[in-house]
Amino acid sequence: DFKNFFELNKIKESFSVYDNLQSTLKIIKGRLSFYKIRVEIDMDKNIKINSYSNELNQVFLVIFNNAIDAIAKNKIPNPLISIKVKESLKRVTIYIEDNANGIEEKILDKIFEPYFTTKYKSQGTGLGLYISKMIIEKGLKGTILAKNRDFGVCFIVKLPKEIDE
Ligand code: ADP
Ligand code: MG
Repeated sequence: DFKNFFELNKIKESFSVYDNLQSTLKIIKGRLSFYKIRVEIDMDKNIKINSYSNELNQVFLVIFNNAIDAIAKNKIPNPLISIKVKESLKRVTIYIEDNANGIEEKILDKIFEPYFTTKYKSQGTGLGLYISKMIIEKGLKGTILAKNRDFGVCFIVKLPKEIDE
């Protein structure tokens, strides 16, 4: 089951959230430049958490790739992904926002369900956000949610700086 799967892969370490975002962006730099997407990051580069960096990387990858898909599908002019990270005593909150078309209100509560996709089956499995939510909640002891903003969607990920187990 998922718990056992997660146990096998985990390496807990203290890492910079900024570096983690950068290493994820590096993986998709080809797609970002193909669609001429600007990425803005507004955060204190020194913010660190003691958590599972590979798992967080996977989640960022899903969120970024979904944003790119939405931008590409809607042929958005001046496409932008903007990232903000805020820190409090015990938590960090990561906001990842795009300027594509957002998500219809009636499906907003379905996007984290397994196999829910609005893409052609060859382009999406509908598992990305389901797995991401599992990783964030069960693995990293945080929360993830999506909200429509003026233009696109904002994914909000809250993580504890220390995981108590
Ligand atoms: P998939 O990408 O395979 O469709 P996901 O679980 O990653 O599966 O996403 C589920 C659905 O959530 C997508 O099909 C899409 O309808 C919606 N979605 C996710 N992120 C965005 C976004 N940034 N803008 C618009 N729709 C989105
Ligand atoms: Mg996806």
